[in-house]
Order: sequence, then C-alpha cells, then structure tokens
Amino acid sequence: MSDVFDIQRNDECICGSDKKYKRCCLPAVEKIETELMRKLSDDFSITAYAKDLIRVISVMFGVKFDEAKAEAVDVEKLSNIIAQVWSAQEEFSKDSFLKLNNDIADMLRENENLKIFRLPGSILAHMELDDSEQVDMLLNQIADNFSMEENLFALAYLIRNNNFTDDELEKILHWIFMGLIDETHQSFFELILQASIEDINEAGKKFEQIIKEEDETACRVDIAEIHELFKEYPVFEDYFGVHMLENIKDDLEFILKSEIDFKFPFFLIYGFFLKLTSAITQMFIQNLPYADINKELNFMDMLIDAGPEFLKQEIIITESYGCITRTLIETMEKSKDKDLQEKLAKVTEFFLLPTGAHLLAIEEIILTSMKKFLENLPQAIDDSTIVLKSIEQLITDEFFDKYISYLELKGLNEQAEFLKEIYKETNIKCQIEKAGLKEIFYNLGLGDKW
Ligand SMILES: [Zn+2]
Repeated sequence: MSDVFDIQRNDECICGSDKKYKRCCLPAVEKIETELMRKLSDDFSITAYAKDLIRVISVMFGVKFDEAKAEAVDVEKLSNIIAQVWSAQEEFSKDSFLKLNNDIADMLRENENLKIFRLPGSILAHMELDDSEQVDMLLNQIADNFSMEENLFALAYLIRNNNFTDDELEKILHWIFMGLIDETHQSFFELILQASIEDINEAGKKFEQIIKEEDETACRVDIAEIHELFKEYPVFEDYFGVHMLENIKDDLEFILKSEIDFKFPFFLIYGFFLKLTSAITQMFIQNLPYADINKELNFMDMLIDAGPEFLKQEIIITESYGCITRTLIETMEKSKDKDLQEKLAKVTEFFLLPTGAHLLAIEEIILTSMKKFLENLPQAIDDSTIVLKSIEQLITDEFFDKYISYLELKGLNEQAEFLKEIYKETNIKCQIEKAGLKEIFYNLGLGDKW
C-alpha cells in the first residue's frame, strides 16, 4: 500500500482540525471512495494499486478545506476521467509516455495556477542544469526531502477551486498516478524539476536579451523590465540571485575587509545589536544550563533567526539599501584603484538588480559594519554630541533615552519607535547573567570590548 495519505481511523485528521480522522473527514472521503469503486469496477479489475489510487483521489476530493469555496465533487465526472487515464495507461508506448510527460510539463508552465509547482531556484543555482547526472542526483534528494502529500493537497485545492478544463484534469491525474506508482515519487517531482529548469532557461534567454538591448542603446539596465521578468519567473529570480551572490562573494568580502565605511545611521547599528543581544539572551534562557553549549554553532543559528527577522522591517531595508548603494557608487567614482573599482562595480550591479539574495548580502554588510563600529570605540553618534564609550552602555536606559531624545528632536520618529520596540523586549532579557553574555560576545569578536 502506498504511504501517501495512509491515515488510520484514530489518527489526527489531515485537515488540521485536531479531531480524529474518523470523526472529521473520513466519512466524506469514504463516500467518494465507495462511489468511485462502484463505478470503476464495472470496467476495470481493481488491483491493490488501483485501490491505492482511488483512496488518494478520494482523500484529495473529500478532505475539508477552510475556505468555503472548495466545491462539492462531481464523482460521475471524476470517475470518467479516471477511466480515461487508466485506459490510456494500459496502452502506453515509450513514445506516447514521453510525449505525455512533456505535455504535462508544458501545462505546468502555461497554466498560471500551476506555477506554484516549482522548486526553489536556490537549490538549482549550484549545478549545471544540462548535466543529466547532476540532475538525477538532485532529483533523488528532492524526492527524499519534499512531501508528495503537501503537493497533492495544493493540487486538490486548485482542482476544487479553479475549474481546470477536462483535458487539464486528465493530465493532472496522469501526473498524480505516475507519481504514486513510483514508490520514490520521483516521477512526480521530475516534472516539477523539468518545468523549473525550462523556466530558468527561458527566463535566462530573455534576461540576456534585455541586457543586450540596453548595451546597444548605451542606456543603463532597465530595472523595471527585469522586475517584470522576475515576477513572471519567480524560480529564475531565486536562481539568479543566488548565482549572482555566489559570483560577488569574494569581491564583497574584499570590500568588507577594506576601509570602506557604509555610513549606516546609528539607529540601524543599534537596532541590529539589540536584536542580536536579544537573540543571544533568549538562546541562553532556552539552553540553560549553558555551560555545555557549543557557542560558535549557536551563534550562527541565532544569526540565522535574528538576521532575517530584523531585515523584515521596511525601514531597515530601505535605509540600509540606500546606504549601501550610495556608498558603493560614491566610492567607485572616487577611487583611483582600478581593481577596487571593478570589484565595486560588480557588487553595485548585484544590488541594482532586484533579487531576494540582497537580504543575505545586506545582513552580512550590517553585521560587519556593526562589529567595526563597536571595535573602534569611543565613537561619536550620528551628528549628535552623544559619544558611545563602551558596549555595555548600549543596554543602559540612560544611553538609550538620550539617543531616543536625539532622534525625536530630529523628527526621526519612525526610527525612534522602531528602536523602542526592540529595546523593550531586549531590556527584560538582559537582566540575566551578563557574565554569560560576555562569553558569547567573544564569538562576535567583541569579547575584549565588553
Ligand atoms: Zn478533517
């Protein structure tokens, strides 16, 4: 029996209602299952495998969705389509099978609703897409790590809400059945992989076209056009962003090690510091007794959590993005060093193209800038008369209040509110063992500054 939707009567229901399956969705599923079985057994011998397929389809059509829109099932129509799929599968030749595969992949690419069935472009970024050995290896990993059930739920939702044509529905059932026959479900994910790769290739060509046109007219790259392209091919945005980040990694590292100062406003550095401190303290609270913690590892985990959460804020993104691009361009114009200029140009280009990989780079730049700033105390704060002498000052009310008054006096209320919010959560947490925190700060490279 297939492991897909293999739910016992007393299991928790898969619809997420917290009720037992038998008291929730099972009756509706069984009703469809019985009806399909009755209709299909007239023309087909119901093997164990056929039973499995009917069960999975019945779950897909019988499970409750929150949204009221999910429509009642036309079992008559459904059984006719299943019958068609089964008859066709009985007569498959190798050629017709390949053709059907391609037709399904085309449908995945052409139908707007089916565009959600793509792999994250980032996992495709590190491989040669035309190397079949690499693609096969990836497929193995995908089938192991992605859930067939989740995909079937998503499909069920679409089918029951979006009225695919009968022809499309037939292809979708083919796709599902092929995936279920194959115990590894690789055949199911293979078509998603194929659609993803074709998307990336097509978008890549269009991208080159855009860049070429820009060169010929000697204009700057039209960001809006690229934005449109990314919207049309989200898998490409992801793929391309990671690829570009990979490309500029060494240059970015070089720039971060240099004297270049990104001139972030202090509230941004302060906010990031508080967020990290808060994450550290929370980690300590959760992991007590902390004598055993592998500190370096946990520090990385914590940055993974705290970084993206910090960068979610619109105000942070806008401010940091502005500072970064301004600094890169200004430094590039001023510099006489050809090598540095080239590196700056590459990193600038990365930031000008709107991909999601920006966040990773921004996070690294803010972190490095924060460390540089705190390593070189005392520091004057923005254009105020406030001077930061020690890191510890950052978690004292006195310093905080002084800085907030400065922001408010300058009319930077949004920034002040933002900091107040972070400070509130951090302050409580900072009541715990400062001695312990000190140790962790060695991992930030700030141990002796604390
Ligand atoms: Zn349920």
